[in-house]
Amino acid sequence: MLTISTTVRPATDLGFLLHKHPDRVQEFGQSYGTARVFYPEAGEERCTAALMLDVDPVRLVRSRGRSTPDYALGQYVNDRPYAASSLLAVALADVFRTARTGRCDSRPELAAGPIPLEITLPVLPCRGGPEMAHRFFEPLGWTVEAQAVPLDEGFPEWGDSRYVRLSLRGEVRLADALNHLYVLLPVLDDAKHYWIASDEVDKLIRAGESWLAAHPDRSLITRRYLGRRRALARTAFARLAELGDDVEEDLEPPVEEDPAADPGPTADAPSSEPAGELPAVPAGELPAVSAGEAPGERDAAPKRPLNVLRREAVLGALAESGAHSVIDLGCGSGQLVGALLDRPEFTKVAGVDVSAQALAIAARRLRLDRMPDRRRERLRLFQGALTYTDDRFAGYDAAVLMEVVEHVDPPRLNALERVVFGAARPGHVIVTTPNAEYNVRYDFLEGMRHPDHRFEWTRAQFQAWAAGVCREYGYHVAFRPVGDDDPELGPPTQMALFGRGSAANAGGGDD
Ligand code: SAH
Repeated sequence: MLTISTTVRPATDLGFLLHKHPDRVQEFGQSYGTARVFYPEAGEERCTAALMLDVDPVRLVRSRGRSTPDYALGQYVNDRPYAASSLLAVALADVFRTARTGRCDSRPELAAGPIPLEITLPVLPCRGGPEMAHRFFEPLGWTVEAQAVPLDEGFPEWGDSRYVRLSLRGEVRLADALNHLYVLLPVLDDAKHYWIASDEVDKLIRAGESWLAAHPDRSLITRRYLGRRRALARTAFARLAELGDDVEEDLEPPVEEDPAADPGPTADAPSSEPAGELPAVPAGELPAVSAGEAPGERDAAPKRPLNVLRREAVLGALAESGAHSVIDLGCGSGQLVGALLDRPEFTKVAGVDVSAQALAIAARRLRLDRMPDRRRERLRLFQGALTYTDDRFAGYDAAVLMEVVEHVDPPRLNALERVVFGAARPGHVIVTTPNAEYNVRYDFLEGMRHPDHRFEWTRAQFQAWAAGVCREYGYHVAFRPVGDDDPELGPPTQMALFGRGSAANAGGGDD
């Protein structure tokens, strides 16, 4: 949400400037939700217009083309429904299109000059902290108040979140104010999930024409605003490399398709939507980055996708463990859960994820609604957070954390360890995570393999973490490579097999 207030007399003229009548609540459908404009106050002396955006995560996902890197939005819990972001900027541009041009036939002189304005954004993601908001808005004539929002008021020791409560006061032309917001909200947000339209450069120039060129941080603003194009390309490649070739399944119900026909990320999202162009990835390039393939190996027989190898490695380890009941913690779209259900020896299978969207995709992929009773009875699929003790996690022979720990903020890892190894305490725990050392093999990759990864461990770091867990909770551990085991770098995925009790009792079965 954002609010725009003025004390110009009469203040209700704000309605003319915004081309939105103060007496009405007006709705504007967006491809990813609904924007509403209403006036919490509309008096002679002060008038406030509010723009509130209800992001519908499901529509957000659907509004994206297939195979777009942004499908991650639907897969993960994200802040889009709760924070002002690039989505709000897109809605603002749409809803206040005319106001942004400065055109106002009924109050032309008011639209042409500065008026007293106050703009507030209760929750704005602000990369770089409150200082960044000062840096970007102050040179434009705003008095800035940016207050970091604590991560959790109950736990002040956790520190601040990346969100600020922002208030801007100044004598500014309304059209300029809207254009400042249009450019700077996504720049402050600096999210990985950002709409890129084909004419983004034009839009930046147009919205910034009266102020950007003179802004002391113009190059940082421009880089952040447009930087996403390259970042997105990298993300897309990295995602494909990590996941293998069945990325699309995450969004679409399983269909019989010729994988060779996959055109790669599409660039043809409907132009009426903010979702626009994605980096064009020539179809022929996709196999070159799949499955952790190393440079120079492109002519070799195609490798099996890393996610398939990973799943098989986990299934193999589960079989060796003799487990009959398995809980997949952070099950995502449910691929492992499906594979477990296919094997009758697994009599009880659970999938847990914190993301309702992931669970919805899992339910669809697993065809939960049409699942035969016998299979359905073996399955539990439920929402849960791995950082909170939950009785439902207990009572399984084995737990799997496949590519999950790296999504957890390091300060919360302790909580996860306590929940899994301390409270649920299954006989076996299988953990897989990327091996950061191997990342140099992805020649297009800068940074981590996925934008949501909070860290990626080297082999030594992973082993040190696992050793700590064993000491604390009385487990023993062994490690196994998954994928190409490079003599220097190790494998793309590392896997830890934990067993309860000391190594001396290993294989002794349940205690
Ligand atoms: N295990 C799946 C998905 C990996 S992606 C696979 O290998 O394909 C990571 C998953 O962990 C996501 O679905 C994400 O929603 C989930 N996740 C991240 N943090 C979590 C938490 N704290 N509690 C529960 N699930 C979490």
